[in-house]
Amino acid sequence: MDVGAHVKAAGGLLASLARGEALGCDVVQLFTQSPRQWRPTAHAPEALAAYRAAGAAHGSIRATFCHATYLINLAAKQPSLVEQSTATLADNLRVATAIGASGVVLHVGSHLGAGLEAVTGQVTTALRQALDTAETAAGEACCRLLLENAAGAGGTVGRSFDELARLLEAAGDDRLGVCLDTQHLFASGVPYRTVEEADAAVAALDRAVGLERLACLHLNDSKVALGANRDRHENLGEGEIGRDGLACLLGHPALQTVPAILEVPGDGDGPRAKDVTVARELVADGLARRAGGRPGRPARRR
Ligand SMILES: [Zn+2]
Ligand SMILES: [Zn+2]
Repeated sequence: MDVGAHVKAAGGLLASLARGEALGCDVVQLFTQSPRQWRPTAHAPEALAAYRAAGAAHGSIRATFCHATYLINLAAKQPSLVEQSTATLADNLRVATAIGASGVVLHVGSHLGAGLEAVTGQVTTALRQALDTAETAAGEACCRLLLENAAGAGGTVGRSFDELARLLEAAGDDRLGVCLDTQHLFASGVPYRTVEEADAAVAALDRAVGLERLACLHLNDSKVALGANRDRHENLGEGEIGRDGLACLLGHPALQTVPAILEVPGDGDGPRAKDVTVARELVADGLARRAGGRPGRPARRR
């Protein structure tokens, strides 16, 4: 399993690639514009091309994922907000495609109590429109758009595998995939504290969505309890899921080709090199458990 981290994009896109390398990442995730502002960053075409070339030739980082702007809410009630969200998402996708990213991870938004049924049409229309707009602007096929499972707060869309499945089915678009956040999964009420529970969780995802749609994991422990419905990331092994639970999930054979991206707090400044190391230990631990090895005695991958 490839392991990596969300890295800061300060100092330009290429700096984030170097930052990921310094952390020991196989994959990186970055924001291509400030995640809490609508205003897009004006990347020069040369900067986008330079990242794409450097990424393609990189010795250790094998893939880049981008995270969409947090302000986007495709399930909003106000048409102007949906329009602005769709345009921003399209631009996020255009930039991600230009830098050669494997996908853009999206929090679909919140219907604020209206119910998924009421917003399914508007959300799927917006998703397809953003992808089409991005392809036209980029002049090439767009990278994948990955709907992230939600922790389940308020009216967040994507709080269950069934909700994600209903959106994917309604959209009927192969450019859409899924990103599974381990903290959101736990907070939404899905346990995976034993191998059996982890197997059941992955089987449920496969039944509802199909594992071929799963493009990446967001790998985080949880500050909140199972089913608490809050999005609160914790460092691996220091939260409510703990090392055992994370290892049980990460060792699942069907997940070994899916990259895992850390979004943990670290010391308050995001993932550290030692967090990436812990992630690798947990993968090794999880594989050993399933191979009948000694749980809790992970082998170093490298
Ligand atoms: Zn996210
Ligand atoms: Zn989160």
